[in-house]
Amino acid sequence: MNVAGNPELLAANIRAGNRAALARGITLIESRRADHKATARELVQELLPATGNAIRVGITGSPGVGKSTTIDALGMDLITRGHRIAVLAVDPSSVRSGGSILGDKTRMARLAACEAAYIRPSPAAGTLGGVAARTREAMLLCEAAGFDVILVETVGIGQSETAVYDMTDFFLALMLPGAGDELQGIKKGIVELADMIAINKADGDNLPRANAAAASYRSALKILAPRSQHWSPPVVTYSGLTGSGIPELWQTIVEHRAAMNASGEFTQRRSLQQVKWMWSMFEDRMTARLRNDPSIRAKVKATETAVAEGRLTPGLGASQIAELLR
Ligand code: GDP
Repeated sequence: MNVAGNPELLAANIRAGNRAALARGITLIESRRADHKATARELVQELLPATGNAIRVGITGSPGVGKSTTIDALGMDLITRGHRIAVLAVDPSSVRSGGSILGDKTRMARLAACEAAYIRPSPAAGTLGGVAARTREAMLLCEAAGFDVILVETVGIGQSETAVYDMTDFFLALMLPGAGDELQGIKKGIVELADMIAINKADGDNLPRANAAAASYRSALKILAPRSQHWSPPVVTYSGLTGSGIPELWQTIVEHRAAMNASGEFTQRRSLQQVKWMWSMFEDRMTARLRNDPSIRAKVKATETAVAEGRLTPGLGASQIAELLR
């Protein structure tokens, strides 16, 4: 089937839960061809009424912390409770290398073999903003296809965490056992974004270090002003390998949803995200115009040179470029 062909038919097949149609739809969203982009926009618009009902969870953590082990274990636990899980990724390294490690099916062997799970690696091309926008749309397609839990994974690099925070309802930061020196690596940004901090690998000999890490994160959180009056991010320990503490992770996510629903913050977070998303897509489109139109590109280059050589102030340069976009 020609993917750019018929967005209504594709939408109907996605809503019917057809996996091949879902994969085709996401491929369409990720395509850089102008005709595909136009069809993708129609497809998302068409599916919009069927979206928004999933619990969207962002999961971050450095390479090796155990993201794939955790997602595999959490996903399998959720499937036994009747959920359907989609795993997506925002991988900033894929922007440069063209290949995504996150969301790789081979990393989540049990989940990948399940009908009730759908795993899709990060889109590999474009700016981080572009990659995030495509993952966000892929999430909408997965929701329309009936997946009711969306897990979006990312690594603790650059702005990717903010991008994932901005598309999810619950932001889970995974950390390694350890205290003291290792905790110097605490990134204030992550602790500020997290709705829960979970120390993985709390098993065997690691247990005392996991508890020490938990204590350190608890004190780190105490000195921060809470983001919500209705939620204090808990610090927990668990083991993705043995599965101990995995059901409790989900229980906390469910409690968070209930608290956010009751306080009205759930609706507020989602609407703020919609508006942010609009602006980020707008910026992306403007940047694309500057880059793709050869005559504009030449003028932008000339303005850039003039600013670099001090013949034009940055302010006047910005005005000239804004003028080109009118
Ligand atoms: P990712 O890079 O964050 O996706 O990390 P992985 O899930 O690939 O895990 C990295 C390594 O840590 C692997 O060798 C896992 O077997 C190991 N690992 C993951 N979770 C646990 C855990 O709960 N306990 C222990 N002991 N090892 C774990």
